[in-house]
Amino acid sequence: MARIVILGGAESGVGAAVLAKVKGFEVFLSDSGKIKDEYLATLKKWGIDYEEGGHSEDLILSADEVIKSPGIPSSAQIIRRLEEQGTKVISEIEFAARYDKAKKICITGSNGKTTTTSLLYYLLKQAGLNVGLGGNIGKSYAYQVATEEHDYYVLEISSFQLDGCYDFRPDIAIITNITPDHLDRYDHKLENYVKAKFRITRNLRPEDCFIFDSDDQITIGHLDQIVVHAKQLPFTQKDTLSQGAYLKQDEIVVNYDQEQSTICLKDLALQGKHNIYNSMAAALAAKAAGISNSVIREALKSFQPIEHRLEPVRELDGVLYINDSKATNVDSAWYALDCQSRPIIWIVGGTDKGNDYSVLRELVKDKVKAIVCLGVDNAKIHAAFEDLTKTICDTTSAEEAVKRARELAEKGDVVLLSPCCASFDLFKNYEDRGEQFKEAVRNL
Ligand code: ADP
Repeated sequence: MARIVILGGAESGVGAAVLAKVKGFEVFLSDSGKIKDEYLATLKKWGIDYEEGGHSEDLILSADEVIKSPGIPSSAQIIRRLEEQGTKVISEIEFAARYDKAKKICITGSNGKTTTTSLLYYLLKQAGLNVGLGGNIGKSYAYQVATEEHDYYVLEISSFQLDGCYDFRPDIAIITNITPDHLDRYDHKLENYVKAKFRITRNLRPEDCFIFDSDDQITIGHLDQIVVHAKQLPFTQKDTLSQGAYLKQDEIVVNYDQEQSTICLKDLALQGKHNIYNSMAAALAAKAAGISNSVIREALKSFQPIEHRLEPVRELDGVLYINDSKATNVDSAWYALDCQSRPIIWIVGGTDKGNDYSVLRELVKDKVKAIVCLGVDNAKIHAAFEDLTKTICDTTSAEEAVKRARELAEKGDVVLLSPCCASFDLFKNYEDRGEQFKEAVRNL
């Protein structure tokens, strides 16, 4: 019996272990840290052998194939050893897709993945399709392949998961956009990160679709250098297209095959320039999946905004509080600042991932009244913006930041948490930061 070893005992790893078990492999899971109780319970329920708190090399190096969690870098010693001895190391997505006949719509990109994935899942649901949602969201794809039957999957896929994909082929692939992020995992080379994202296109056939942002120079630059066999469906806010989605005055126009449909911008549930892109991508994929214009239009109208992404929390004394804790890089914060129509009290800061703040200076100059830093080390933010605003102060908790922001805000302003940084200096993760922010706002 072939032996499958899984490295990493969280959502994707445990899902892969269950699927491997169901498919009759000898399965062993190893996690160098502690495995959460809920995952331990699943492993026990399915009778899967595991270890935690360290890797036993002999048990791992004897694998026929290894499935690696996306959190483990390929530079980790155990991965190097496996590669040296020629053992194939793949991702959970690659493994699960071998056993899945459903049509797959897969979304990758630097920003907008979760929003576009959730929107598209909702669209397919509204159309009455039997669809699963997975990848980086909710239940792992592998676990669903092991335990459920779907005709379609909408999968959010990170570049780390794509790194471990070889034969995986979506029917519809979307790259939302590409901006520098996570470069620490790609030898600090943008080219490597771009190539990782484009792995989503490598097995596409002429009958498949590739949906992408043609306003994004990094995407276009790379697309010019490679061959993608699929039907190409770009979306843009700058040009007019015969195939794809574009803007015409206050409408999105979608041209697909011989059909044209339009959607009024004011009807979109998700507002803001970045969400126009996300809605265009979702509408194109839905068209390619054969969904009718009326269902698409209705679903784009009735979709509920998701947590921590430009999420309005409360209006108090004429001041609107918005939680955009998920904005962990410069590009997402750019869109958050750009789409505000009111003067902004901006809560920003956290763990800096090598940010270049200069692209935000213009927006900060025009729109930001005061900056409240929320982080352990705010020196870079001070240096980047100090000359542009009268007020810039430091805080080290969500409660303190919200209190300071309230003091600084006047009727008609917006208090925007869009941190531009990771959260690990003061919070468990971005969700924790968003929750604490909302709690503090509700307590005002
Ligand atoms: P991801 O899953 O790729 O991290 P999310 O949908 O969770 O993306 O959004 C992350 C952050 O990026 C949020 O702050 C959101 O407002 C912003 N954002 C969403 N879509 C886009 C886009 N198309 N371009 C730039 N920023 C975006």
